[in-house]
Parts: sequence; structure tokens; C-alpha cells
Amino acid sequence: MRFVDLGLDDPTLREELDAAYARVIDRGLMILGPELEAFEAEFASYCGARHAVGVGNGFDALVLSLRAAGVAAGAEVIVPAHTFVATWLAVEAVGATVVPVEVSPDTYIMTPEAAAAAITSRTAAILPVSLYGHPVDIDGFMALASRHGLFVLEDAAQSHGSSYRGSRTGGGAHATAFSFYPTKNLGALGDGGAITTSDPELAARLMRLRNYGSSRKYVHEETGVNSRLDEMQAAFLRVFLPRLDSRNDARRGIALAYADALAGVTGLTLPHELRDARHVYHLYVVRTGRRQAVQASLTEAGVQTQVHYPIACHLQPAFAARAFRRGQFPLAEQLADEVLSLPMWPGLRQVDIASVAQAVRAMV
Ligand SMILES: *Cc1c(COP(=O)(O)O)cnc(C)c1O
Repeated sequence: MRFVDLGLDDPTLREELDAAYARVIDRGLMILGPELEAFEAEFASYCGARHAVGVGNGFDALVLSLRAAGVAAGAEVIVPAHTFVATWLAVEAVGATVVPVEVSPDTYIMTPEAAAAAITSRTAAILPVSLYGHPVDIDGFMALASRHGLFVLEDAAQSHGSSYRGSRTGGGAHATAFSFYPTKNLGALGDGGAITTSDPELAARLMRLRNYGSSRKYVHEETGVNSRLDEMQAAFLRVFLPRLDSRNDARRGIALAYADALAGVTGLTLPHELRDARHVYHLYVVRTGRRQAVQASLTEAGVQTQVHYPIACHLQPAFAARAFRRGQFPLAEQLADEVLSLPMWPGLRQVDIASVAQAVRAMV
């Protein structure tokens, strides 16, 4: 059983993708054209934000958001200790300093309370991550930020279409960064990313930064970069966006089926969804102290699994210069040792879930 499957063999989907491809080819305009403009409008509206700015990938969405907000060398940015390393690397890329805080032990995401305790006079921004598809309490972060004059950038690369207290992810933060890496809940057929914001000045600055710092041809107001969502990917994303809600519903159904099938297995912790949250299960992550054995049993049964992520960010060689210690973020370290991602994609069948559960029960 595959860990993930993009479902590209669906004939109706294929027809629409072929039509999108043909439309772009017939027009012959490949960069900064009508497909991008249309996708930006559609995605902003979906997220409940006034603007969306398409960029080259999720990492650039984070970096350019920090740059657009003026976060630079000398500034501190509060990040979760447990996340994909891209979150931390984006802060490093603008010369700022990551200040890690432990995540909540039940949802694996950062809480406003934990962030509040890490604020110093140098804090410029808070960067919560809606990890695995569980949305963060963005209203809580915004309230905290307004008390301290901070910028809130949400990393929603794993959380397209999730919501918290009825508010869709992408509408609540000062800026929200998305990745359209092909396996994400909303994925392109190559690299892609976007930032949503309701701040028109921030949006205008992001539009400049992604295009060599230019808003008028050959006039460069600042030292921007080249990071644009191309027409072909924008056209494909316009095919996938209308399917996002039903695909997320399917993921939620699979999560429920897993919860049923794996209920009561001792030593196995299942994902937890807060009452106010609509989790979109980018990944279905369980925890066990016997990960190696469980993973081996699943491999034996032909079930592919992955570990997100096996090394805590503060112990990555890339951050050696910061001299973090082992034991400094014990929960992040424990999660790195215990998390295991089971197969999760919208087309997974009940029989697949049953055979995963059987292999897990055979072992734990
Ligand atoms: C995927 C991901 C990113 C980076 O996105 P890319 O498009 O691969 O650059 C950033 N943060 C998180 C949490 C991610 O999962």
C-alpha cells in the first residue's frame, strides 16, 4: 500500500488538466499571466483573505513574507520546536534568529500561551505552524501580537482548507504561507506556493519582491528575487482548488476510520482534534515508543510509512552554530523518536485501513 497517491488516474480530473494545459499552451504566455491572476483571486476568496500572491514554493512564501514585514537581522522570531525544518530555515534566510518553543503534547502545534512566554524586547514576529493539518488558534496569536506589536505569519503548508472556530486558514493572520508541493492537500504538478493577506500594502510589496523588486517593467524599487508561480501550475491549481473541500472531507473520513480501527491499541497515541478545529489530516501521525517494530511490521505487510520528522530542528547539523543542547526541547526530541505517519490520501479504502490496523495490532 502506497504512503501517498496523487490520484491522477481519475479520467474527469485528467480531462480538466489536459484542458488547462492546452489553454496555457494555446495562449503562449507562461509567466505572470491570466491564469495566475485568476488563481490568486480564487484562492484569496477561498481563504477569506483580500489578496493572494503566487510564488515559486512554500519556502519562498515564508521568506518573502518575513522580508515584506521587515523582519531582518537582529530580530527574533518565535517558532515551534517541532515542525518541518523549512519553517526555521526561512527565519535564518532573512538573517533573523529562531526562538523555539515546545508544542502542545496532544495536537503537536504551538499555542499562544507558549509563544507569549518566549516574547522578548527583540521579538519581531510569531510563526505558528498548522502542522499535519491541525489549524493553530490564529485569533489567539493575533490578540497576543496586537498587545506586543508583533507580526504573525502562519505556516499553513500542511493545512489548506482547515479552519478554527469556523474561520478558514489563510484569512486570520497578517500573512499565511502555503506550499503547493504536489503531495500537499492542495498540490500543483511541480513546485508552487502562495501567501494570503488582507493587507494591501503587504500584498503589493510581496508582488514586487517575487518579481525582482519591480512593479513597473525595468524599474526596480528594491532588491527582490525571482519566485513566481508559473502559468501552467496556476492553471492546474485552478483544477484542483474546487476539489479541495471534498478531498479534505475524504481525509477526515479516513482519519475517523483509522480511529475506529486502531482504538484501544495499548502504547499507541492517535491524532487529537481540538473541539474548535477542523483538522484536514495532511498526515495521519500516530505515536509509539516502539516505532521501529511497528514500522517493520507494517513494511512486512506491504504498507509504506514515513517519519515526520526523525530529527528535531534544534539538533539538525544546519543549526550547530546555535549550540542548542540535547534535552533542551524534550517533547520535540521525544516526538522525533516516536511519530509515525500512516498512509493518508483521499482514495484510501476501508480495506486498506483494516489491513494497516491488522499489522499494527499484530505488533504493538
Ligand atoms: C512543505 C512545507 C514547507 C515548504 O514548502 P515547499 O513548497 O516544499 O518549499 C514549509 N513548511 C511546512 C510545514 C511544510 O510542510
